[in-house]
Amino acid sequence: MDAIEILKQLKDQGVRFTPQRQAILEYLLETKTHPTAEEVYHHVKAKFPGVSLGTIYNTLNMLKEHGYILELSYGDMSSRFDGNAKNHYHVVCLNCGKVVDFHRPLIEMESEVAEKFGFEITGERLEFYGICPDCRRKN
Ligand SMILES: [Zn+2]
Ligand SMILES: [Zn+2]
Repeated sequence: MDAIEILKQLKDQGVRFTPQRQAILEYLLETKTHPTAEEVYHHVKAKFPGVSLGTIYNTLNMLKEHGYILELSYGDMSSRFDGNAKNHYHVVCLNCGKVVDFHRPLIEMESEVAEKFGFEITGERLEFYGICPDCRRKN
């Protein structure tokens, strides 16, 4: 889904979008880096110097609550935000915090879990942790 479509859907639900909020959404949809709220702030600030960190946080929360983005929390590291809310998986570097997407359908595992535990599965979260190539080179 692109920004225009999301804006249209939110407008139908009575959510008002300022140009700043739109810039936040567009950045999340285009970037693959899973930025923190701070990183979103620095990016949007370059274009809209008047934007506040508060606007960043409440826009991120609103988009998350409406299911358009994901918040990935990692213990003591800052949460990362993902403009791709569809099921996919992450490979996380424990050293620098880099988060990389991994796309592979896990349908078989889902039906196995559904059968074994009698659940209706509506989502899943699978993550791989390790040390990324950049960090491995530095060590
Ligand atoms: Zn790393
Ligand atoms: Zn992702």
